[in-house]
Amino acid sequence: MSETRSPLAVLELPLVTLPGAHPCANCGDCCTYVATQIDDPGTFKEYENLHWYLTHENVGVYIDWEGDWYLEFKTRCKNLTDAKTCGIYETRPLVCSDFSFNDCERNSGESAWKHYFSSQEELVEFLRTKRPRAYERYQKKRRELLRKRRPAARSRA
Ligand code: SF4
Ligand code: SF4
Repeated sequence: MSETRSPLAVLELPLVTLPGAHPCANCGDCCTYVATQIDDPGTFKEYENLHWYLTHENVGVYIDWEGDWYLEFKTRCKNLTDAKTCGIYETRPLVCSDFSFNDCERNSGESAWKHYFSSQEELVEFLRTKRPRAYERYQKKRRELLRKRRPAARSRA
């Protein structure tokens, strides 16, 4: 029985350098973030959770091409070497070995997301244009929340 092997499968371990012609040579981009799926927001509290996420540095929220929502942390893996290779290639996590370099943004030529939000302002603008009813509900609740906070803020001043 013959076996089709990917270019990565025939590399020598430990992986210290990559052949210059390999699609991943000098890249390592997929080792510089963590993304996890989150629920499609619907309630005020869920939108406010997104608001909270987006107040943090190096955090983004995106919607992929299937309409699924993700929380992304832009953070470099501790095992990514200066040569942009994996320092623990043989024992790397399953999610890493399951990831195909054919599907990544660099090689597929397609962005992983349809909408990306780096700030609350971008998220609110998305709601305004794409989910106008949710936008109205959200803004109403925000105004109520801010009104309730005002006396408390004044008494602390
Ligand atoms: S899989 Fe894609 S993003 Fe990851 S190192 Fe290879 S070319 Fe870069
Ligand atoms: S463990 Fe290796 S393959 Fe996985 S993210 Fe880190 S450097 Fe990349």
